[in-house]
Amino acid sequence: MTLKYRVEPADLHGHRFGVTLTIPDPAAEQVVSLPVWAPGSYLVREFARHVIGLSAEQGGQALAVEPLDKSSWCVRAPRRGKLTLRYELHAFDRSVRTAFLDASRGFFNGPALLLRVHGREHRACELALTGLPRGWKVATSMPAVAGRRATWSAPDYDALIDHPFEMGTPWRGNFRAGGVDFEFVVSGAWPGFDAERLLADTRRLCAAQIALWHGRAQPPFKRYVFMLHAVDDGYGGLEHRHSTALFAARRDLPRVEDKERSDGYVGLLGLISHEFFHSWNVMRLRPREFLRLDYTRENYTRLLWFFEGVTSYYDDLMLLRAGLIDAPRYLKLLAKTLNGVLAAPGRQVQSVAQASFDAWIKFYRSDENSPNATVNYYSKGALLALALDLTLRGAGASLDDTMRLLWQRHVETGVTEADVGQALADAAGRSLAAELQDWVHGTGDLPLQTLLAAAGVTWRDQAAGLAASLGLRLSEGVVSGVQVKQVLRGSAAEAAGVAPGDELLAVDGWRIRRFDDARQWTRPGAALELLLARDQRILRCRVVAPAAAATTVVLGMDSATPPSAVRTAWLGA
Ligand code: ZN
Repeated sequence: MTLKYRVEPADLHGHRFGVTLTIPDPAAEQVVSLPVWAPGSYLVREFARHVIGLSAEQGGQALAVEPLDKSSWCVRAPRRGKLTLRYELHAFDRSVRTAFLDASRGFFNGPALLLRVHGREHRACELALTGLPRGWKVATSMPAVAGRRATWSAPDYDALIDHPFEMGTPWRGNFRAGGVDFEFVVSGAWPGFDAERLLADTRRLCAAQIALWHGRAQPPFKRYVFMLHAVDDGYGGLEHRHSTALFAARRDLPRVEDKERSDGYVGLLGLISHEFFHSWNVMRLRPREFLRLDYTRENYTRLLWFFEGVTSYYDDLMLLRAGLIDAPRYLKLLAKTLNGVLAAPGRQVQSVAQASFDAWIKFYRSDENSPNATVNYYSKGALLALALDLTLRGAGASLDDTMRLLWQRHVETGVTEADVGQALADAAGRSLAAELQDWVHGTGDLPLQTLLAAAGVTWRDQAAGLAASLGLRLSEGVVSGVQVKQVLRGSAAEAAGVAPGDELLAVDGWRIRRFDDARQWTRPGAALELLLARDQRILRCRVVAPAAAATTVVLGMDSATPPSAVRTAWLGA
């Protein structure tokens, strides 16, 4: 009694997939729905708004389809026997969360395309792709049905929508690491990118992560697919149990002539590392609230700081452990995370536990006030993981030990904050409850300066730019000028009345293309006259730069003293 989904590119230029769903034994009043969100991306996206022309038919007779709410429909099937639903879906989102189709490629993420058959969620599902343009190939981690062309199967609906599909003519490569067969698919790349380097580096990274979780034992999956879509500009990924869909800037792919790994490429490797780490942390080791997902509404947890933050801590750290970057370069990446957190006044307003809970309405809906009212649970979560790791390493243990304890104990049960506390205590040999309470539920700064110093890492403040000193976050382009995106709480710019959206035309009578150019003719502590445009009006505004300029942190290896045991254990010799 398998549910059968047939997907076809119905109109390449019109960007529409066609879906036919056959239910062998429908309920008399059969309800179907599309999820309102995609697991891993905590925003209600209302995928049903892209559904076009849902129709139903049984035994050759058309049946009425009655909408029940914004995402579900009911079909009254008068007889027993199979019910067939047909619909199209508008697919023109280049991100990794929904669906895209044009003459060059197609992509879909299950929640955006595949209807859930209520009461039949535990039925096996089959998905067939038909009508693909000549020469197109398909990449997916969903197991293929032996002997059937372009047909795949999943044991239930949850599994069905956890395998995105990429189709077209992408570059493809394979490697094996840690007992797992990997496939790497890249669409949209410039010809001649250094595919061998991408494969070799990803292999080292995957081997290091598998070793972290399992030593030499087999991980809980045998096959894994990376799907990377290269675009003009963009950066993101979405995790799945057996695959990940990534998008990144084309220029960040490695080039054959590169001697060193560029910063952009290291950023891409960090993304690959992040999403693969989720194979464990969040996909299999989950917040207890995520054991059963509700596809009709927000699913709340206070633990995203752990599942995204710890993953963010390990993403760059695993680049170091896999030998893809050295310790000074790792410390640069860490300082970037640190400076991002320290530059946002919202870290003193919202705890990472609150930020986790409010992800649906705050992190995923960032606006001009976000840095003032919110803390980023990815980056502060990563720093929190660092603070825990350094604390544990001071006690001769590590966060690695804690993660393995959680893995042994909580794959089936899901993870609570108390479980995290217990695993930390067991690893450290003492309770870390006070630290957890303070760091997870408090809004003070983490004691990283002390912990890093004890680990033999230096912390030096370096002057930041003029815009940072005034508390301005800008969007700058040579052609379009300088526009204020955000004004930070308590800043000189806020006191002077500068507002988000203002276009900054001149400083002290000089036209600016980049705001920090004004440092050439201004002095710290002196008043500046800004000429700005707001809602078609030209305004003047006097702002006094604080005498003490803003700073950013530079981390370094303390060479004055012999390397500490903690630093060697954490960063290597
Ligand atoms: Zn993530």
